[in-house]
Amino acid sequence: MRKYIVAGNWKMNTTVPEGVELAKAVVEKAKSLPANVELVVAPPFTHLAPVAEALKGSKVALSAQNCADHEKGAYTGEVAVNMLTSIGCQYTILGHSERRQYYGETDEKLVVKTQLALAAGLKVILCVGENLEEREANKHFEVVTEQTKAVLYNFTALDMKNIVIAYEPVWAIGTGKTATAAQAQEIHACIRNVIEAKFGAQVAQDMTILYGGSCKPSNAKELFAEKDIDGGLIGGAALKADDFIGIATSF
Ligand code: PEP
Repeated sequence: MRKYIVAGNWKMNTTVPEGVELAKAVVEKAKSLPANVELVVAPPFTHLAPVAEALKGSKVALSAQNCADHEKGAYTGEVAVNMLTSIGCQYTILGHSERRQYYGETDEKLVVKTQLALAAGLKVILCVGENLEEREANKHFEVVTEQTKAVLYNFTALDMKNIVIAYEPVWAIGTGKTATAAQAQEIHACIRNVIEAKFGAQVAQDMTILYGGSCKPSNAKELFAEKDIDGGLIGGAALKADDFIGIATSF
């Protein structure tokens, strides 16, 4: 059965007290949400433990925005998967375009991080998406297919139960430019086909594929009405509880 998810990527925003307030507001407003929609918040590392406290007893899941590509040891500044699970983290985002672009996140590193995350019991939200140049060169299907295969074809059908894909066209992230519902749908369908080719129809049908890129309450309904769009990975609009919940009520 396919799960509908709305996940908020807070990126490098909010202080710890502000983040705890935001989490509490999300918990409060999430009480009226239908049971078939899962909410996830992904605050910065410093916020995870206090936000975990604020989320206790609620339906809102906690995610990191990244994890280390080693289990433990001399890797200054990194955060290991067992550190995340030890404070109640259930998910980690991996392969966000900002990490690919600014921090040299490669597909090879993403395979290792995904292996470590799954082995530790974390679910993974794997981001894929083309940049503007690739879109303009009409290479978006090819780029997204390759990114998806490069990471996920190293895993099993069973692993897919703990992986969510987020299609995030880089040109739509934080720009106010949203992909049209039709543009998003055709890529989501393509990703589902890539999953089906390796893991079979059932795994593909069960796969949650999120859209990300300037998604907001005013455009979420149209996007989520598409048959292969199962929710959103939300940046800017996740920083306001009303907007975030507004998106989550758009199914
Ligand atoms: C994101 O960074 O994952 C994102 C979708 O950002 P925004 O919603 O701000 O475009």
